[in-house]
Amino acid sequence: MIPRPFEYHAPTALPEVIALLGQYGDEAKLLAGGHSLLPMMKLRFAGPGHLIDLRKVAELKGIALVGGEIHIGAMTTENELIFSTLLAKHLPLLAEVARQIADPQVRYKGTLGGDISHGDPGNDHPAVMMAMDATFVLAGAHGERLVKASEFFHGLYDTALTPGEVMTQIRLPLPPAGTGSSYAKLKRKTGDYATAAAAAVVQVKNSVCVQARIALTNVGPTALLAGDAAASLVGKTIDEAAIGHAAALAMKICDPTPDLRGDEAYKTAMAGQMVERALRTAAARCAI
Ligand SMILES: Cc1cc2nc3c(=O)[nH]c(=O)nc-3n(C[C@H](O)[C@H](O)[C@H](O)COP(=O)(O)OP(=O)(O)OC[C@H]3O[C@@H](n4cnc5c(N)ncnc54)[C@H](O)[C@@H]3O)c2cc1C
Repeated sequence: MIPRPFEYHAPTALPEVIALLGQYGDEAKLLAGGHSLLPMMKLRFAGPGHLIDLRKVAELKGIALVGGEIHIGAMTTENELIFSTLLAKHLPLLAEVARQIADPQVRYKGTLGGDISHGDPGNDHPAVMMAMDATFVLAGAHGERLVKASEFFHGLYDTALTPGEVMTQIRLPLPPAGTGSSYAKLKRKTGDYATAAAAAVVQVKNSVCVQARIALTNVGPTALLAGDAAASLVGKTIDEAAIGHAAALAMKICDPTPDLRGDEAYKTAMAGQMVERALRTAAARCAI
């Protein structure tokens, strides 16, 4: 299908983006990689009168180590995450998840900021951002504000972003020594969205779990932070009994929508399996 006519804008600096958002209000949409927005426009689920392309805004690109955090520009593509030596050294989970997203064409254009801002519970980065305790930088006419990943996703395609705002950066704390992480995703075929997936980040000291974060993909209206499941691991050895108990607690918060990928019971069971897989791998990586 053909999208509704729109006016195209290609600003080259962030203040221009914010001015355009202020000028056109609800009629404007930001364009990043276009792999979620353009299909929605073609189906006429979205019909912006003004499209503000972020691709020429250099401030929105790049991956840097700043103090104890990694800062990633919102327009950084999946491919750039996969091939970043900085991430391979400090946050390999990000490359691991990016490799499981869609296909090479989508990963070449699709951006981290777009994947998060879209607010789609089927996207993979939201749960990973929750598990990594990310903070998002949102800029608007008011200046900048910081929003935690755990508070960003409000509902289906509904996030903390307000109409005049743009996500500029994703900030991730460096994991402490003894941390292991993993993303386990069940999909029907290469390029598909998750039937269910789980991100796990655990820290182990003297064989005991001292910190854990678990989050789930595509089993609720947003990515879900499985707080009780993670808390159940703290103070314990991450053995099969502890993993099974955490997975059972994570399944309790699942509320998936039945579709061609499966019914509620199947998706919930698969979420439990993905939690188990992610925890086993994350725990094994703590020692590396
Ligand atoms: C065939 C196919 C398979 C896919 N499979 C997966 C998958 O398995 N896992 C997965 O995670 N994703 C998947 N996707 C989605 C893909 O990762 C998209 O690229 C991603 O959802 C959106 O990123 P984008 O850069 O393309 O954003 P766009 O499509 O350009 O934008 C998406 C939305 O976010 C807003 N937006 C974009 N950037 C910003 C910003 N900086 N600040 C504020 N708002 C912003 C836009 O206005 C728009 O509303 C798939 C897509 C396709 C076409």
